[in-house]
Formats: sequence, C-alpha cells, structure tokens
Amino acid sequence: MGFNPFEMAQQQFDAVAEKLGLSESIRALLREPMREFSFTLPVRMDDGSMKVFRGYRVQHNDGRGPCKGGIRFYPGETIDTVRALATWMTWKCAVVDIPLGGGKGGIDCDPRVLSMTEQERLCRAWVRALSANVGPVQDVPAPDMMTNGQHMIWMLDEYETIHHGKFPGFITGKPVGSGGSLGRTEATGYGVICTLHEALKALHIDISTTTASVQGFGNVAYYACERYLKLGGKIVSVSCWDNTDKKSYVYKRATGVDIVELKAISDKFGSIDKNKAKELGYEILPGECWLEQDVDILIPAALENQINKDTVGRISNSVKVIAEGANGPTTPEADEVIKARNIFVIPDFLCNAGGVTCSYFEQVQCNMNYFWEKDEVLEKLDLKMASAFQKVHEMAVQKNVYMRDAAYMIAIDRVASACVARGWAIR
Ligand code: NAD
Repeated sequence: MGFNPFEMAQQQFDAVAEKLGLSESIRALLREPMREFSFTLPVRMDDGSMKVFRGYRVQHNDGRGPCKGGIRFYPGETIDTVRALATWMTWKCAVVDIPLGGGKGGIDCDPRVLSMTEQERLCRAWVRALSANVGPVQDVPAPDMMTNGQHMIWMLDEYETIHHGKFPGFITGKPVGSGGSLGRTEATGYGVICTLHEALKALHIDISTTTASVQGFGNVAYYACERYLKLGGKIVSVSCWDNTDKKSYVYKRATGVDIVELKAISDKFGSIDKNKAKELGYEILPGECWLEQDVDILIPAALENQINKDTVGRISNSVKVIAEGANGPTTPEADEVIKARNIFVIPDFLCNAGGVTCSYFEQVQCNMNYFWEKDEVLEKLDLKMASAFQKVHEMAVQKNVYMRDAAYMIAIDRVASACVARGWAIR
C-alpha cells in the first residue's frame, strides 16, 4: 500500500484526541468527513467526442461555519487526498479562529492537455453537479493546485445562472475587480512573516538582526521575503526550480539577496537566469543547500516533505526558528529531531493561514458588497495572524508542548466545542 494522506490526517487527529482526552462521540465525529460527494462529469471535448471525468467535494466539518477550501485539478486525484486536505482545512480555519469549516474538492484531470473551452465546460459541470450543496452559506470553494481566478469566475457564473441571482460570496480567489480582495496575492507570505515576527518577539530576538534562508521563490516565498526585508532582516539565499535543468538551485549572496533584481531575471515559469545571477554576484549551489546555511531562520516555502529524516541533520546549529510557509514541509521523524534540538517551529497550518484568512475577508466583502482598501485588508490580516500565534504560543508554554501539538490542540478543541454546543457530540 502506498502513502495514504487521509490515514495520516486521522493518525494526527487520534494523537491529539488522546492528549485532549476527547470523548468517543467527538472522536467518531471528527475523524471522518461529515459529507462527501464523488461524481462523474461528462464533458463535450472540442473535437466533438465525450470524455467522462471524476469530480469530488468533501465537507469535513461545518460546526463553526460554512466549509471552505480549494478545488484542485490534479491528474490521479483520489478521494483520500481530498478527505485529508478537507480535514486539514477544518483545523486551519479553526486555529486562526475564522467562522468557517473545512472542505476540499478536486477533479481528476490534467488541465495542461485541456483547452480553455474544455476547462470551462469542466468547471461548469462541477458546479452543476454540486449546485444544491455548495454556496455562500454552505461551502465556499477557492483556487488550488492548477486552478486560478478564471476557473473561479466560470464557476461563479454557473452557480449564479442556476440560482437566479448574484452570489459573489459563493467562491473566493476571484480576480480583483470581479469580486476579488485586494491583498490576497500578498496574504500568505505576509502572514508567514507576521507569525515569524511574533515568534522572534517571544524569543527576545530583534528581527532586524536576523538572517534567513528561504526555499522557493514563488508566491508565498516572494511576499514573505518582501515583508521580512522591510522589517530589516537579511536574506542570505533563496532557491527555485530550474525548468531547463529540471532541478533546483540555491541563489546565495552573503551581502544579502535583492528579490526585485532576482525577479527581474526570472522567466515566466519562475526560473532564475543562472548566468545573470552570477554576474550580479550570486553563488549558485545545489537545491538541497538551502537547509544548511548558517542563518537564524529557515523558511520552507516550496514543497512538502523537505525536512525529513534524511535532511534534518543538515540544519545548521545557528538556526533558531523554522517558519513553515509550505504545506507539510516537515515529516514527523524530522519533528522529533527539531524538538530535541530546541528549534522553534511555526507549524504550517498556522504559519500559512494568511491565504485562507484573506479568502474569508473576500467572502465577507462580497457578502456585504463593500470592498476595503488594501491597507485595511492587511491590517485585519495582521491582527488575526498575530492573535492566532499568541494563543498557540500561550498553549505551548502553559502545557509545555511543541508548537505543532499546541496548534492542533487549540484547533481541535474549538471544533469539538462547536459540535458539542450544537448537540452533535457529547463531551
Ligand atoms: P508557487 O508555485 O508560486 O511557488 C513554488 C516555488 O517553489 C517556485 O519558486 C518553484 O520554483 C519552487 N520550487 C519547486 N520545486 C522546488 C525544489 N525542489 N526546490 C526549491 N524550490 C522549488 O507556489 P506557492 O503558492 O508559493 O506555494 C508554495 C507552498 O505554499 C505550497 O506548499 C503551497 O501548498 C503552500 N501554500 C500556498 C498558499 C498560497 O496562498 N499560495 C497558501 C497556503 C499554503
């Protein structure tokens, strides 16, 4: 049997349920999704043929509010992956204390081999299959892997056609001007640095004296770097995937990385031009080296499974904080080593929750049909992220537990309390 993400999500839940002493009825409720939809999507292809795709939506828990979560276009998508991601969304929304539950959806397809018109028909078919079960007060989708604002607009249009009205709060991640929120592009990366700043304050470290190494140079990494630099930190290296060589490289400059200059020499897929980088004084190192830099802070912001039992030993003794911008960058085996070395971790579902928090703001703005200025969005984002960090940190100190465990304890307890209050389970 291969790796099953849903079994992993259940194991994580079981461990925290044990620590919290949750009752049998709460455990039975929260270790399974409340509702799941798995359906066929017959779509007319451009050449006149028909193709049948499989679509999914999993609503893990809506005790705290409508479900919230992305919709992925992913070849080989499975119901178990969608179940796991929906479960993690429940905990992510709960840890930042936004009134939403957890959901996730997907279609088993490869958009890279579908035309735009085929993708449009697929989006509309997905909404038709679920039109009675999703919506602003039930379940609110968003972009995810290989979907974007254009897909969201098609889905919104189909939903509004079926329901005879305007319901911009049905879906988030829409382009600005078509119901999207200002600040969404920056939100995840800025949120990462907001929690990092709080962590450094708790450790009595002045952020402007620190150095960092970042894995990735995409959306999350770029805006995390931008904000960290504004606060006076120094980035020693960033890394990214090179499309030509089909491997990743680290771009290091001891005097500090200039992200605007690196962005200017990146192609449209995000690969940085190595020769131009060398001319600008960057050293080009193999991709794994991001982890072994003598810095205070590591920011994994690219992929899952990067800090694992094979790589964790390469982390330099100078590292004090790991801020997890990516989803699932650290494996449980690596966690044990990090704990023993007393490195402070800001766990992914807290650290990168700025994105979903801003999606929630988008929904709020859509529902009241009044859009905020960018500064207002970012100010509200900071308040949410800082207060979420503080609650988790307080719990970690009080109970003397690892930050990841503290975040899970807070999130699961909040969802359990909401379900008990509604009479869905007994304490
Ligand atoms: P992105 O596609 O914009 O960027 C990914 C970056 O990773 C690119 O710079 C790419 O070159 C780099 N990369 C890919 N493989 C690499 C490798 N082997 N070594 C080094 N770099 C590599 O994606 P993103 O939106 O920035 O997302 C990054 C992570 O953050 C993902 O785990 C994602 O699930 C998570 N996340 C994103 C958001 C969001 O709002 N975008 C929200 C929450 C979590």
